[in-house]
Amino acid sequence: MRLTFLGSGDSQGVPRWWCDCAVCAEARSTGRNRRDRPALLVERAGARLLVDAPPELRRQLVAHHVRSLDAAFLTHHHNDHVGGVVDLYDFVRWTGGPLPAFVPRRSYALLLERYPWLPSRLDFRPLDGPLDRDGVRWTPFEVPHGANGFAHAFRIEADGRALVYMPDSLDPPEALQDARLRDLDLLVLGTSFWREEAPRGQRSVLDVEEALRITARVRPRRTIFTHLGHGVDRDRPLPPGHEFARDGLVLDAW
Ligand SMILES: [Zn+2]
Ligand SMILES: [Zn+2]
Repeated sequence: MRLTFLGSGDSQGVPRWWCDCAVCAEARSTGRNRRDRPALLVERAGARLLVDAPPELRRQLVAHHVRSLDAAFLTHHHNDHVGGVVDLYDFVRWTGGPLPAFVPRRSYALLLERYPWLPSRLDFRPLDGPLDRDGVRWTPFEVPHGANGFAHAFRIEADGRALVYMPDSLDPPEALQDARLRDLDLLVLGTSFWREEAPRGQRSVLDVEEALRITARVRPRRTIFTHLGHGVDRDRPLPPGHEFARDGLVLDAW
């Protein structure tokens, strides 16, 4: 399984177009902290499986020379994860489609409220449990998303390897006991800030300090933080076994 981080930013991307903080200023110079909204491409045995469709999807796929997709999986219904579904619609219109797109059921209902025309072109299907697709097993599970309600994560398994992609979560204590977080070769976890100062009730995504306490308990073999806002400078050192994603990061061995 080859993984490509098409985007590694949070819901507003970095730089914030209105912001002059040090990370946003850096993102405008060398670009080490420049990042688009988050998406992951999973490739195995010639199949290309997309996780999430952010607003920059078209540019991200062009940048990585992706000219075909075999299926899409959406974690939840928020704009930073689905704003690019209109591009998938166009893709299918010109390639003849349909493109199967799987969305955990609670998010599926909310997505169709916003994009009622989707099923006419994209083969959108609600997901209630594990699904095998192109030799990869996808297991969705719901995670608390703080002030933003709920989101979903995927456990993704193939060839004896397992990763969890959980870009949007806050306070996932039940999930920590969950079998779906056990024996992970890789945990991809969303962290918008290093330490977020906003009141708890206004927050929606883990910060790095909280995420490090979670990985100390879950003990994945490797952790990559993604969904990074302007509260994270990716040059700041992390403990062994942890790293920050960047746009375009490709992992062949993990
Ligand atoms: Zn998000
Ligand atoms: Zn979200």
